[in-house]
Amino acid sequence: YDARCDVWSLGITAIELADGDPPLAEMHPVKVTALNSLRQQLAALIQEQQQIGCKTKSKLKRHLVSLTSYRHVRINTRKTLIIESCPDDDLVNLEFLDEETIISHLHKRYDELQVYTYVGDILIALNPFQNLSIYSPQFSKLYHGVKRADNPPHIFATADAAYQGMVTFCKDQCIIISGESGAGKTESAHLIVQHLTFLGKANNRTLREKILQVNPLVEAFGNACTAINDNSSRFGKYLEMKFTPTGAVIGAKISEYLLEKSRVIKQAPGEENFHIFYYIYAGLYHQDELKTYRLPDGTPPRYIDSQHCKVMQDIVSRKQYKEQFDAIQECFRNIGFTEEEVDSAYKILSAILNTGNIEFASITSQHQTDISEVPNSEALENAASLLSIGPEELQEALTSQCVVTRGETIIRSNTVDKAADVRDAMSKALYGRLFSWIVNRINSLLQPDMNVCGMNVGILDIFGFENFKKNSFEQLCINIANEQIQFYFNQHIFALEQMEYQSEEVDASLVEYEDNRPILDMFLQKPMGLLSLLDEESRFPQATDQTLVDKFEDNLRCKYFLIPKRVELCFGIQHYAGQVMYNVNGFLEKNRDTLPADIVVVLRTSENKLLQQLFSSPLTKTVWPDHQCSVLIATVCVQVDTMEMIRHPEETTKMRRQTVASYFRYSLMDLLSKMVVGQPHFVRCIKPNDDRQALCFCKERVMVQLRYTGILETVNIRRQGYSHRILFEDFVNRYYYLAFRAHEMPETSKENAVAILERAKLKDWVLGKTKVFLKYYHVEQLNLLLREV
Ligand code: ATP
Ligand code: MG
Repeated sequence: YDARCDVWSLGITAIELADGDPPLAEMHPVKVTALNSLRQQLAALIQEQQQIGCKTKSKLKRHLVSLTSYRHVRINTRKTLIIESCPDDDLVNLEFLDEETIISHLHKRYDELQVYTYVGDILIALNPFQNLSIYSPQFSKLYHGVKRADNPPHIFATADAAYQGMVTFCKDQCIIISGESGAGKTESAHLIVQHLTFLGKANNRTLREKILQVNPLVEAFGNACTAINDNSSRFGKYLEMKFTPTGAVIGAKISEYLLEKSRVIKQAPGEENFHIFYYIYAGLYHQDELKTYRLPDGTPPRYIDSQHCKVMQDIVSRKQYKEQFDAIQECFRNIGFTEEEVDSAYKILSAILNTGNIEFASITSQHQTDISEVPNSEALENAASLLSIGPEELQEALTSQCVVTRGETIIRSNTVDKAADVRDAMSKALYGRLFSWIVNRINSLLQPDMNVCGMNVGILDIFGFENFKKNSFEQLCINIANEQIQFYFNQHIFALEQMEYQSEEVDASLVEYEDNRPILDMFLQKPMGLLSLLDEESRFPQATDQTLVDKFEDNLRCKYFLIPKRVELCFGIQHYAGQVMYNVNGFLEKNRDTLPADIVVVLRTSENKLLQQLFSSPLTKTVWPDHQCSVLIATVCVQVDTMEMIRHPEETTKMRRQTVASYFRYSLMDLLSKMVVGQPHFVRCIKPNDDRQALCFCKERVMVQLRYTGILETVNIRRQGYSHRILFEDFVNRYYYLAFRAHEMPETSKENAVAILERAKLKDWVLGKTKVFLKYYHVEQLNLLLREV
């Protein structure tokens, strides 16, 4: 690509690409395409030059930009026009920063299958909805420890930045992936894990394989087909990969958040239950083991009887279910679960399916008119046998309850509806606890040697913002979690940035942004926030969904809470990502999530060791933030009770056991406390269309997502911003080799920091009162220089 020309009116005698001439074979294929296209455009430019005659440098530059989007142009002493290979990979480099330019820029890149784009050190990932050939091991090599600008943007580059950050600064890192449902968060998380295992040089292959199998295993239990996404995550996941200080991977740990347990017993039209139910059905059928697990081979059990699975054949004939079953068996085995444990897990899953088929009929007795009984005992016997408990005891626990009044124990029969509720509550509890157990078991199997003092890269893949035709309690929790993540993003990018500028007396023209703190306050404040009101109402036995709506309407008077006219039992929320209408039906029950003591008592009598374990522990799992929260949490968290939680753990344990809302609030804080101790990296996934179509870029849809995720403001602040701020002392200690001899121990002063910066020939850095302010590319340049020393 030696596009050269000697006819410039500015006296320019040649055009060169600043890259030098690396062999094409070693270059990134996308870059080769870009360079080839640039060469053609330059040839055309040379011809045009005669006609348009760019007489000034700036005019020439603008002309080049309009042709190629390459902004970095300079003329060297040999009168050669150098076009630096810094193309349109980073929105921060765009000349104009309006929405229209950004959108058309992303559109153009998407059409060229360049799905990744930077905004400074934030990565925008557009879902390609097709398999791209850019994730092979060769690509992992390309993105290993190189300067970011050397390759087109990529999810591997973000993983690499986190890894390098961890090794260089000895600091935990955290990659936060956000975006709507179906935008590609989970896929991105997989790719990050893939690249980190590559970088982490897992010297033992087994460990690498184990880590790679964690996601598929957990997702079989926690993901499901929804109206939006065939593999939608129905829980939040924070995966911490653990490394030695030198960067070798040594283990992993998952934390799960808010599994949507209600899916076990009921799914919205067109949706499905958790994948694992279909996998075991297909797998056990092909192994001829349906009978062993007492699963019917005629009509599908009620819990998995959906639009797509009307007859059993629909499930067992799906090839991918059987393949997934085999893959899951392999995961269980490789990660280290015993056969007995896997068998127990399958038994519990089969028991849940049988439990769903237990029906109740009403009989009349002398004292009570509506007493339930089980007319057809087959499902009940199957469930009891799989759970290794007595069928009579199970029936009794489902159809009656022990009530203690004034010191006397009375057995009260359940109505048919009540018995059905108890049955479903038992199924949800069994599934929820089985899921938590699997996660805990994985954690103990992948726990690194306690003697190694390691560091983490955490990867957060949390359910995306949801807005369906009908939204319920689950959507509310999911959307509150997304508000919190957005708040953290804003805090990190905007508020904290500006606070630091001001305290360091570095000039920062204030950038306006949409602060979602008032909405979070409305949800989480005590005692008058929405979740507190919900908890309060859940404590009244007489409360109804109507009284709950009334309570919300009376107490939540702000512009984010909307009261729809003519629609009953509904309320609306103006979220950062748009308006969502919530249907309050069942809110109270879902929040109470009660599991009658009689059921716990009978399940504890089980001879199945796993089941005993699931129900011997307290009703909610005991999780506690691993890390002490940093001061930052006080700034980041809206609700003050985080700090209370840390001070009074016993009290909060009590509180957490009460309702889903209070446990949810706790989980959010737990998650946040993990996130704030690490250096964050953000991946913003964007869904280019709602039809899951490849190469289809819907401008309006992308625009909405860019707008509410604050990308535009991000571009602004990143462009002006200094994403790395390092204390003079740390800076000198880290980089003094660049300007001093190894045995010299220079004073860790501002002057020496400046000496290093000048010696490294960096431009555009700024000095604060105590820190050096660097742009993200400065740190890359410094690290590269360090490696050369
Ligand atoms: P949810 O919030 O519902 O869990 P999500 O953001 O996790 O959604 P994914 O499950 O990661 O979304 O992605 C949805 C689908 O998009 C995937 O099943 C896959 O078909 C496609 N997809 C996403 N990212 C990629 C990619 N990098 N390459 C190819 N296909 C992708
Ligand atoms: Mg997902």
